[in-house]
Amino acid sequence: MALRDANENLEEKVKQRTEKLNETVAKLEQEINERKKIEQELKATHERLKEKVAEQTNALQETIDQLNIQLEERQLMSEALHESEEQFRSLVANLPGAVYRFRIDREWTLEFISDMIEDITGYPPSFFIQNRVRSYRSIIHPDDLEKVEKEIREGLDPMKSIYVEYRVIDADNNLRWFVEKGQAIFSQTGQPLWLDGAIFDDSERKFAEDALQEANRKLQRLATIDGLTQIPNRRRFDEHLSNEWNRMKRDRKPISLILCDIDFFKLYNDHYGHQEGDGCLQAVAEAIQASAKRPADLAARYGGEEFAMILPDTDITGAIHIAHKACRAISELRIPHALSTVEKHITLSLGVACAIPSQEKAPEDLIREADNALYQAKKKGRNRVYPETPGEK
Ligand code: GH3
Ligand code: MG
Ligand code: MG
Repeated sequence: MALRDANENLEEKVKQRTEKLNETVAKLEQEINERKKIEQELKATHERLKEKVAEQTNALQETIDQLNIQLEERQLMSEALHESEEQFRSLVANLPGAVYRFRIDREWTLEFISDMIEDITGYPPSFFIQNRVRSYRSIIHPDDLEKVEKEIREGLDPMKSIYVEYRVIDADNNLRWFVEKGQAIFSQTGQPLWLDGAIFDDSERKFAEDALQEANRKLQRLATIDGLTQIPNRRRFDEHLSNEWNRMKRDRKPISLILCDIDFFKLYNDHYGHQEGDGCLQAVAEAIQASAKRPADLAARYGGEEFAMILPDTDITGAIHIAHKACRAISELRIPHALSTVEKHITLSLGVACAIPSQEKAPEDLIREADNALYQAKKKGRNRVYPETPGEK
């Protein structure tokens, strides 16, 4: 009995243990299943994450690629810019003039000027840029400033360009001639912004031209001025008489001519010598020239010791008056003339003639008439005017 009980107990215990074991196994299986589920979920999340990372990596790579392309383009652009800048610089450096950009403001602020400006003005570009030390305007000759400003004002037109010649005072205080060519640059709204152009040193040509002009003036003077007396010569006399004759003909006005001749001048020369004679001629020429003062009047050396006065728009009365004045003036010089039989000094004989130019008359007629009058003055005793009064025959 005891054994049977013990057996039953044991069986009961085994049963209980088995049940517990089964319970544990079931729990474990459930746990395993749950873990598996979590594992799967984790895997899925991991996959998704992997995909996202890949996506973002791709996007990033694309951005990097684009950036690289842009960078490359920039590099190329900057190289091209640098190259074009170099080209500009070398072009500008080899130009014979200074290239500039002025801002169009009151002070003409210089934005840029090439190095050549130093060659032609003696001032470095940095002096003028932004008007740092002085404005470019300040070295322009004051007498030319108005002309330059006017030219620029009038050239501020999209259809026009600027061309102006002016003088500049360089760093060594020398005068130089510049030629400037420019073009205004406008904003889209039509506001003038800058003046772009170039300045050239034209001094050599200008000075050569001036010298040539001066030489021509001298030559012209030499051709029309008498070397000894420095008053107009016969050539100038002929020219002036012809011009004034025609002018008076148009205006229907009188023209007078006085011919003067020094009395006994041969004797003067013989006695005092040729050199003294020349000095006397100079003094007489000066006094005769001083006697005819109107702008159109002309006193000239007509021949050896003969002088002439052309008096346009002057009638015979006026001409006789001038002749007397000249006669007195020479007498009053009191140039001693020991061998003269009329006075103890140099005297003059003068013949006066007047005409109203017309188709029938020529300047030669007037000359002949004055010459006849001079002959009369000599004949009547020298040191006088003929006719002495307008009515005299
Ligand atoms: P008359 O009163 O009649 O005019 O007498 P004259 O001696 O003045 O006239 P004539 O024509 O005989 O002499 C002119 C002289 O003038 C001749 C010459 O000796 C002089 N003569 C002419 N040209 C010059 C010149 O350039 N220099 C000098 N020193 N003498 C000159
Ligand atoms: Mg004579
Ligand atoms: Mg004479």
